[in-house]
Amino acid sequence: MKLYNTLTRKKEEFIPLEEGKVKMYVCGPTVYDYIHIGNARPMIVFDTVRRYMEYKGYDVNFVSNFTDVDDKIIAKAAEEGSTAEDVANRFIEECKKDMAGMNVKTATCHPLATQEIDGMIEMIAKLIEKGYAYPAADGTVYFRTRKFKDYGKLSHKNIDDLQAGHRDIKVTGDLKEDALDFVLWKPKKEGEPYWESPWCDGRPGWHIECSVMSKKYLGEGIDIHAGGEDLIFPHHENEIAQSEAANGTEFSKYWMHNAFLNIDNRKMSKSLGNFFTVREVSEKYELQILRFFMLSAHYRSPLNFSADLMEAAKNGLERIVTAAEHMRHLSKTAPNVEMTEDELSLAVKSKSYTAKFEAAMDDDFNTADAISAVFELVKFINSNVSAESSNALLGELYRQMKTLCDVLGIILEKEEEDLDSEIEGLIAKRQAARKEKNFARADEIRDLLLAKGIMLKDTREGVQWKRI
Ligand code: AMP
Ligand code: ZN
Repeated sequence: MKLYNTLTRKKEEFIPLEEGKVKMYVCGPTVYDYIHIGNARPMIVFDTVRRYMEYKGYDVNFVSNFTDVDDKIIAKAAEEGSTAEDVANRFIEECKKDMAGMNVKTATCHPLATQEIDGMIEMIAKLIEKGYAYPAADGTVYFRTRKFKDYGKLSHKNIDDLQAGHRDIKVTGDLKEDALDFVLWKPKKEGEPYWESPWCDGRPGWHIECSVMSKKYLGEGIDIHAGGEDLIFPHHENEIAQSEAANGTEFSKYWMHNAFLNIDNRKMSKSLGNFFTVREVSEKYELQILRFFMLSAHYRSPLNFSADLMEAAKNGLERIVTAAEHMRHLSKTAPNVEMTEDELSLAVKSKSYTAKFEAAMDDDFNTADAISAVFELVKFINSNVSAESSNALLGELYRQMKTLCDVLGIILEKEEEDLDSEIEGLIAKRQAARKEKNFARADEIRDLLLAKGIMLKDTREGVQWKRI
């Protein structure tokens, strides 16, 4: 399995630090509002990476934080007259609902920045002790960027170029030793949440949060650190500087970054105002369709959001789901016999699509090509199964299709399951009516089910039903 490492700018073979295990950290959202579909891209992309790693047999420890203290959260709380805690908790819950709708698996752990302040103070103290950080006169603690010799290695920036860019903005009275130094801890402002620290009452800078949460939940060295490409600089560059200076060991072996979700070829963002929330999109489309749309492009290619592309995703997904439905339908009446010679060779041939799918995913998670392989499998199934097919063949083909769709996080059976539970519910009601000798009601329910294409058969073992 190869993946593109931002650190080396190369596709590299994935070799885990510990055999069979993957330690992965994905920077999560700042929770001050509903997430927009740009934020959804890394969630879907890295959830798919995780699913594929699990498919390959890795035990994945997947950590993704919520940034629950930040200027934007504080501003939102002030605007609505509530507290930062209220705002953050509310939007964490809303974000989790959106994630469930997009079938993004719950992380092994979703740490909250505000619950990890002690660890942050500890890491900052360590950095001061090692000479990598210093408190200024007002209690702000800065990271001494120039002291970290590898600064710029992820974003491939030269520290002197950065310095030149910063020269203009160094203001007189600045408490920093150097314009490149960044904040680890900042003093509280009136009305803001704060914590006590050896330097001043205040709160952590954004970058230190991830260094600390990653270390606490995954250890000092991890396999993969990921996020959107806007995080490469300065966020991830600063995380590396903090973690490697404090721990004295490589922070993350691989760095993965998704490209932007755009609108009219501009990054979708809150500040530009050109965004749709996941919630808005869910009013028009099932979120499965949004997920399918996101995976229709390679994660390192920019993706333009448009109604046309969403319609194309809807149609494509429908083709897959309909094929699955058709197979489930056929299997209800299919003969329970062994595969014929012809069927055996079909089963063997069908494996080539799984192989194609794996080859695409092994090549830096090329979900676009992986989806093409699923379409080819669907086409193969549609042209080779019929009412005469054995259950053994149908089962084999269905399992393959379901396995590949599971890796993509596409659900094939949801509607059917919902329908089944509705049918079971009606059958239970009919049984109750019969027990009460209300035969008119029982017949009414039987007719209602018949209208839905469900035929009942009363047997000694109970009621059986089948689709007609
Ligand atoms: P934020 O809450 O802004 O820190 O963003 C959370 C995650 O969403 C980060 O990994 C960002 O890089 C990512 N992100 C934000 N906007 C976009 C976008 N338009 N396209 C892709 N990823 C994005
Ligand atoms: Zn982060």
